[in-house]
Amino acid sequence: MTRLILATRNAGKITELHAILADAGLTHDLVGADAYPEIPDVKETGVTFAENALLKAHAMARATGLPAVADDSGLAVDVMGGAPGIFSARWSGTHGDDEANLNLLLAQLADIDHPHRAAHFACAAALALPDGTERVVEGRLTGTLRRTPAGTNGFGYDPILQPDGHDVTCAELTPAEKNAISHRGKAFRALAPVVRELLG
Ligand code: IMP
Repeated sequence: MTRLILATRNAGKITELHAILADAGLTHDLVGADAYPEIPDVKETGVTFAENALLKAHAMARATGLPAVADDSGLAVDVMGGAPGIFSARWSGTHGDDEANLNLLLAQLADIDHPHRAAHFACAAALALPDGTERVVEGRLTGTLRRTPAGTNGFGYDPILQPDGHDVTCAELTPAEKNAISHRGKAFRALAPVVRELLG
């Protein structure tokens, strides 16, 4: 059975990607980056989600000699020209401070009314092989930004993004409901046939 490395140490993400790829019929031996603690995290020096996903997948494939998949994601707000974008995780200055990031964004958008609060989550999912072969696909979840957070599920900007066609925020959806429509779900479901094509 071909081993496929998921280039992330985020346990929640590993569980989620495992389920998505298994649902898509992939029978590969999926292993998270935690199985390779000696491999250092790569610097995300790309300026797009796709570049950063490819950087992470290539670094892991090179270091392990095995095929690797990686993702990079964030929130893009239309009226802000796509920001926070690749800076989503550290928008307030501290990497991973979800509450501070969300509060800063809401403050910046305080004067912007409903019709102009469109935004989307974007995710790039990349596959890299040790020989340098690469593929990258993208998925989006479009919606509107609320003025006040609602819901306790999920993470990041989930409490303020209301997906199109829903009257609740992403943080009010169950994990399964969110996976079904999420940027990450779409990107990895699109990557599954590519994995099958290249790895069998
Ligand atoms: P990463 O791809 O895991 O590095 O995520 C980058 C950042 O984008 C996260 O820290 C969140 O702020 C934001 N983000 C990405 N995906 C989601 C999501 O599904 N919900 C909420 N925030 C997200």
